Amino acid sequence: MKFQYAWLVPLLLLPGSTTGAASAYIANRASRTTELARQLVLQRLEWLAGRNECRQAFIREKIDLDQVRATAYEVRFYNAEGPEGELRFSDVVGKPASPNEQIRDLARGLSADAFVLGYQDGRKYIRSKEVILNRGYFWQTNAQDGTWRMTTEEEKQALLLHELLHIVLNRDDDDLTRRGLCPLRLLASCPRVSTAAASE
Ligand SMILES: [Zn+2]
Repeated sequence: MKFQYAWLVPLLLLPGSTTGAASAYIANRASRTTELARQLVLQRLEWLAGRNECRQAFIREKIDLDQVRATAYEVRFYNAEGPEGELRFSDVVGKPASPNEQIRDLARGLSADAFVLGYQDGRKYIRSKEVILNRGYFWQTNAQDGTWRMTTEEEKQALLLHELLHIVLNRDDDDLTRRGLCPLRLLASCPRVSTAAASE
């Protein structure tokens, strides 16, 4: 009996160490996703900050571009369809959840191209700084013939900026839309990236 027990110990420890390695691998993948998304949105923010008409559009809406930039460094991004999609809500947000779904399943249940993870704390809705990138971040479907195409960099940047605005302003979609803060509308005050690139 004692002998058997001794054998049980390493067997019991084993799943723990495997999980540790797996989550380290997943965290590593998530940090790569973060790095790429952050780089992309920072490029856009730098570009916006360098243009007076864009800066003015943000000032008019009382959005502090420096704060948006600082938040971009704090936010982590997860590819719902990548290996990090296996992470559960509690792994990502650091709060217990019930049901504690994998972010892959959470994303499949939503039509949003990207979304901020949040939770209800009493009467307050808390937005985390964890952003899930859903399929629409990577691929867009053509409404006419149902074919898929890759999401353009500019679309990705607008989407990432939109998610950052949710966090910085702590507003939901209705509020952002009401305030005309849909990034596409905000960015309409600025020249398009491709035009600007051609003229630079
Ligand atoms: Zn939104």
